[in-house]
Amino acid sequence: MPWFGMDIGGTLSKLVFFEPKDSIVEKTEDETQLLSNVTKYLTKNSAYGKSGHRDEHLQMDNVKICNRVGTLHFIRFPTSEMNNFLELAKKKGMAASVSTVCATGGGAFKFEENFKNELNLKLCKCDELDSLIRGLLFTVASNNNECYFWSQCTADEQCSKQEYTFQYKKYPFIVVNIGSGVSVLAVYGPNNYKRISGTSIGGGTFLGLCSLLTGCNSFDEAIELAANGDNTKVDKLVRDIYGGSYSKFGLPGELVASSFGHMNSKEKRAQVSREDLARTTLVTITNNIASIARMCALNERIDRVCFVGNFLRVNPISMKLLSHAMDYWSKGSQKAIFLNHEGYFGAIGCLLSFDE
Ligand code: ADP
Repeated sequence: MPWFGMDIGGTLSKLVFFEPKDSIVEKTEDETQLLSNVTKYLTKNSAYGKSGHRDEHLQMDNVKICNRVGTLHFIRFPTSEMNNFLELAKKKGMAASVSTVCATGGGAFKFEENFKNELNLKLCKCDELDSLIRGLLFTVASNNNECYFWSQCTADEQCSKQEYTFQYKKYPFIVVNIGSGVSVLAVYGPNNYKRISGTSIGGGTFLGLCSLLTGCNSFDEAIELAANGDNTKVDKLVRDIYGGSYSKFGLPGELVASSFGHMNSKEKRAQVSREDLARTTLVTITNNIASIARMCALNERIDRVCFVGNFLRVNPISMKLLSHAMDYWSKGSQKAIFLNHEGYFGAIGCLLSFDE
């Protein structure tokens, strides 16, 4: 029985932990005791070491995996802290309670030896995109309220979050995974998908550029800054060039014509704040992803696009921008869909690979 599924990404490591709640006893007393200690440590805390967090609000109860019923817990930590994670796992006896951990993401390869040497743990490696799709389909099937969309995204204030009933058995649909980089997949059936596009300009780019431009120290700080900034002080808009809209081609005056286009001017540079720069970086990266997603959907003749990945964590600004861009440029024919467990599907799918 696997208890852990791990997705070791370029920026964040995601750990999904299955805690069986039924009473089937299939282990020796020692093993049960060990597991119970680990379970207690993981479920009684929401912070581990300096940088590990459990996303309590995402916990899934009454989940059935490998004919066992239990709870799924969701934990994340920066991949750069892997050595500290391994140390903590050793100290808490995690390694002694399981012999194999299912792992995906590039880190499953990069850190394989470290798991073996430090914890005597064998990583059972799964492909990250297979895991992503498997995890997404499982989560949507298990949770009625997993999906949502943003309605009326013409202006920030009018935009509202609405539950969305995703017909996940109806194919095809597009998945845009925004992690450190971006992958775009077209899903035609439960075991039938292809990677149709991608870009290196993703969540890692946002955080990297934002750190350079504002000196911020974390993703949450970057998002907070962006929430209080104004990109029109940094971007050159259509109206800055035309004095209004470019109506012959239906381009509104408020549309960004040139991202960061004002920043060649010394006077304009003197007027912008860290918040404005953070907002502009977020808007630039997000609009670029929206544009790629839209073209992929159009090419594949698919109208539903699911945006996932931790770039969307605590990031309603990007979700609203993506929703607006998909809706506006497709004249209402393409729909942006979001999922509550946004960054955890790879880790969930990886855990489930044992079930197959
Ligand atoms: P990966 O598997 O490549 O690490 P994720 O889906 O975990 O991808 O997303 C990583 C991205 O999520 C980061 O590049 C950043 O934009 C964003 N992010 C969200 N929360 C955090 C966080 N706590 N620390 C760092 N990046 C975060």
